Amino acid sequence: MKVLVIEDEKKIAAFVRKGLEAQGCVVDVAHRGDEGYTLATTRPYDVLVLDIMLPGRDGLSILRSLRDRKVPLPVLLLTARSELNERLDGLNLGADDYLTKPFFIEELVARLHAITRRASGATQSILAVADLTVNLLTREVKRGGAGIELTPREFALLEYLMRSPGRVLTRVQICERVWSYDFDPGTNLVEVYIQRLRKKVDGPAAVKLIETIRGVGYRLQTPP
Ligand code: CA
Repeated sequence: MKVLVIEDEKKIAAFVRKGLEAQGCVVDVAHRGDEGYTLATTRPYDVLVLDIMLPGRDGLSILRSLRDRKVPLPVLLLTARSELNERLDGLNLGADDYLTKPFFIEELVARLHAITRRASGATQSILAVADLTVNLLTREVKRGGAGIELTPREFALLEYLMRSPGRVLTRVQICERVWSYDFDPGTNLVEVYIQRLRKKVDGPAAVKLIETIRGVGYRLQTPP
């Protein structure tokens, strides 16, 4: 899950980033509303965590513009206890949920999972290709019934491949999805991670699922 957090209070933003990254999410943070809006409209995210009082541009104005432009990004508002009117305005403007500060990170994670599931229309929490399964809730990965241990970043990469089986994903697409927007495309990070994933997922298996499309990118094969 790739999350954009627009929050000017650096402590809260850092707490949210740390908590979500521990859950295997990929997180971009903007401390200003105008910068956050630019990211939200130019980069691929699964969900937006949006503060209301922001420098540059306030959260409700960002939400209004996203909905006016029919950007389908699910939005969770972070509100102060006193911001009742703003919270109601936000829900009327099309926010998917809200959370009142202070909050537990577990609650934020649970709500983000719930609204992204709703948004994708998926009730399924298990992705499966051939004998490879990924449980998005428990984060268990299995090949032929045997458990595989992945780091959060490896998990994010596999999840992205598993969400589009049979489709070729370019290095740039993978970078944008699995790493942050400030990622340097000149590095060979994608190759390195694909290799690690291959070792763990395909290593001993007779059928190799992760395919390299030379000069283009990678694809998760769907054997008949
Ligand atoms: Ca604020």
